[in-house]
Amino acid sequence: MPSLSSRLARLRHIVFDMDGTIYLGSRLFEPTLPLLALLRRLDVGYSFVTNNCSRSRAEYIDHLRRLGIAAPPDAVVVSTHAATHYLRRHAPHARRLFTLNSPGADDDLRLAGFEIVQESPDAVVVGWDRTLTYDRLCRTAWFIKRGLPYVATHPDRVCPTDEATVLPDCGAICALLETATGRRPDAVAGKPSPTMLQEVLDRHALAADDVAMIGDRLYTDVRMARDAGVLAVLTLTGEASADEAMSLPAPERPELIVRDLHDLAQQLRAARQ
Ligand SMILES: [Mg+2]
Repeated sequence: MPSLSSRLARLRHIVFDMDGTIYLGSRLFEPTLPLLALLRRLDVGYSFVTNNCSRSRAEYIDHLRRLGIAAPPDAVVVSTHAATHYLRRHAPHARRLFTLNSPGADDDLRLAGFEIVQESPDAVVVGWDRTLTYDRLCRTAWFIKRGLPYVATHPDRVCPTDEATVLPDCGAICALLETATGRRPDAVAGKPSPTMLQEVLDRHALAADDVAMIGDRLYTDVRMARDAGVLAVLTLTGEASADEAMSLPAPERPELIVRDLHDLAQQLRAARQ
């Protein structure tokens, strides 16, 4: 196994989780822009990944731009794109999709070359439909029950919120559909599925050794990185603590823990000297 420093020295691409890693809510972390500038100087590419498919890729690019981050369109990978990655490999005939999705996610599916249809679909995609209606739930259950390929975008049961409400997310909607149809999704594409990182690797023609994934959650970001064989980096600016990370069995632990993105920048510089 190459040393950590030699792995950092040969990195060609870093994949960032967003909330808790590069910003918290609407507050950009101070070391984010300097790290991205360093990566551009070192000719290291970067992508941003998120399970939250209630926004489209274009909406995320806008959001990042408002925070001062210039990101080319293909630098953002939403769980919707991981779902298309799965469909291309496992249901290559599927062009016509019935979806339970927010409008932005349907936009991304269309841009990826799929058609959104109401009748005679080839496959079903369930995301986080914030415009959910009973009628569409019934139609979705019907197509699932008929045995069509069925992909969920991500496993999250709720979306965290500080408001006085609960936001049932894709995982909760799939649980309802499982109760109604007896079927679970054939695949759940977003984090922690390595499908999400495979989408990034394929898009930029990268090998797992060329890539690091950095995030603030152990059971999504770090787990996905370990399963995909990319360097797993935990940042302590969000959910998980170093103690929690070290209490995991060795194969599930992050391979590098950084205090924040400034710490990562320092380690990258040191490894390349
Ligand atoms: Mg996060």
